[in-house]
Amino acid sequence: MSHAVSLLRAARLARSAKPFLARGGFKHERCAGCRLVPSHCMCVLRPSVRTRAGVCLLMADIEPLKPSNTGWLIADVVADTFAFGWARTQTDPALLILLSDPQWQPYVVFPGEYAVPERVVHSVQLADTLGAETDKRPLFILLDGTWAEARKMFGRSPYLDHLPVLSLQPDQISQYKLRRSRRDGHFCTSEVAAMCLNLAAEHLAEQALAAYLDVFTHHYLQAKNQLPIAWEGAAHQRLREFSDLLPPRDVVEASQGEIAVSPINRFAAAGDRLNAAAAPWPLRSEGAAQRFRRP
Ligand SMILES: [Zn+2]
Repeated sequence: MSHAVSLLRAARLARSAKPFLARGGFKHERCAGCRLVPSHCMCVLRPSVRTRAGVCLLMADIEPLKPSNTGWLIADVVADTFAFGWARTQTDPALLILLSDPQWQPYVVFPGEYAVPERVVHSVQLADTLGAETDKRPLFILLDGTWAEARKMFGRSPYLDHLPVLSLQPDQISQYKLRRSRRDGHFCTSEVAAMCLNLAAEHLAEQALAAYLDVFTHHYLQAKNQLPIAWEGAAHQRLREFSDLLPPRDVVEASQGEIAVSPINRFAAAGDRLNAAAAPWPLRSEGAAQRFRRP
């Protein structure tokens, strides 16, 4: 199990002088795959969707260490998820390479009122002026931290300044709120990612991510309150419905075999295969599981 956020978490842990104790979190052993206590592990439920869109998480310092961080869920579901720690004085060269990779059209997802109007867009370009699918894949840059941290990241990252700012529209937000029956206007990072996937017309991934967040929330709260998991509850059933619609990974990979990939993407694809070996997702064929089994 080594997706972008888990690698970032491991790197951040290695730099910690003292062990990180999540506030109000559990003090017991945790599963390395889902960060929950083993009795409430949800690794078996992890869906993975091959999307055209990618997600780039810029994470505030301790964000990858928080067991409640939902960027982790995005990395579970969206195969091309990248994650970088943010620091004002240092920029990971791999982030700059990713942002200049011509296969991507990056969008900084942030409220439009904080950017100059020329930068603000409300939709994702899916087709060129002739109506053909653009060859650029959307890359959603999500600033993952508290609101104060996100504002700082937005204002003090000169390498983002030339990129369009994707501002989610109130009607999209309220539609989403209705569907998710949210009462306030606050969304976690994985909900923002789901809204971006919606704009990119990646509806299966959008809904799988939303269902997966519900399952995570259930497991997280039940673990915290030391209550059992409702495996047949509404959240699990909904996730199962979406996972039944996902094509087996090896079929998708075979159909994408001709696409040239950048070094960064090749790295992500290798991570995927490790995930495939670690996660017994019911839809993966036995053949694929055999091939990816680690020695
Ligand atoms: Zn687990």
